[in-house]
Amino acid sequence: MTSRHDRELALRRDLVEAGHMVELPLRGLSAFTQTFEEVLTGVERLVHEMQPTEDVTVISFPPLLTQPVFEKTGYLDSFPQLIGSVDVFTGDGREHKAMVGAKNSGEDWTTHLVPARLDLLSAPCHQTYPLHAGTRLERSVTYETGNRCFRHEPSDDPMRLVSFRMREKVCIGTPEQAQAHREIGRRVGPDLLTSIGLQIEEVPANDPFFGRAAKIFAAGQRDAGLKVEFECKVYGEDQPGTALGSSNYHNDHFGLDFDITTADGELAHSSCIGFGLERVTVALFATHGMEVPSWPAPVRTRLGLDAQG
Ligand code: ATP
Ligand code: ZN
Ligand code: MG
Repeated sequence: MTSRHDRELALRRDLVEAGHMVELPLRGLSAFTQTFEEVLTGVERLVHEMQPTEDVTVISFPPLLTQPVFEKTGYLDSFPQLIGSVDVFTGDGREHKAMVGAKNSGEDWTTHLVPARLDLLSAPCHQTYPLHAGTRLERSVTYETGNRCFRHEPSDDPMRLVSFRMREKVCIGTPEQAQAHREIGRRVGPDLLTSIGLQIEEVPANDPFFGRAAKIFAAGQRDAGLKVEFECKVYGEDQPGTALGSSNYHNDHFGLDFDITTADGELAHSSCIGFGLERVTVALFATHGMEVPSWPAPVRTRLGLDAQG
């Protein structure tokens, strides 16, 4: 029987041989070509059309957080294994010469760089909380935002990338409002995925906390029902499923960190529902085959792939 790893390599090979994906010379970094991008655009539109659609602010951000904001997200505390940050060159001509010299002689030239105090974004919703830092919300706010996310988890699995796109809807408000948003997500998230012919199971989940307390944090998150994932068994019924999206209730985590309150003076709560756009697209190719013209007609229509007839 083929191992999980063999199946991941086989799916990657199929995507490459079909011309949908181009491997770059680092594990977890890939490029994608036109047909793949057309499917991904269709997925992104479905996320946009997914409820809630009223009073939602669509907004796009850079894929970087300033260091003070990054520190407040708590990502460094909980997931240091995934983070990445930017270094820049601020030296003079002499230092430039030394850096080029180091590069040309095969030495480590990065020692000539200094931290830019910019951190790579890990989740699009992290950009939304600072918009309301230190404020009292008179009513809840809901955002739709997508971004390139960085997570240092290099893998041969074409579903697990170091740089990938995620699109999310995020609500910040009272506990009731944040929970209601989460419930909408749990209802419409699986519907979105099954409407494009994917077999989805909603499962309780936890984030990959780091270090000795990881088990405790993970169990706490699961027991409180804070995270559910929409999983697809891309590698077979006998294998663990892969999360194509997730619905997350953060309690007052971001309200506390960013000092956001609601009209009653209590800390704001938040929730988000997000989809990995490459992941959903790869799951579509794994499910329906590498040739888009032979996909079921309703799936093509729903993804807007029939424009040319
Ligand atoms: P996993 O358990 O597979 O690591 P996750 O719990 O880290 O997923 P979330 O943080 O909930 O994922 O992110 C939302 C979505 O973003 C996931 O459901 C998935 O579709 C996508 N995603 C997360 N990490 C990656 C990755 N490394 N490569 C591609 N897509 C990803
Ligand atoms: Zn989020
Ligand atoms: Mg993960």
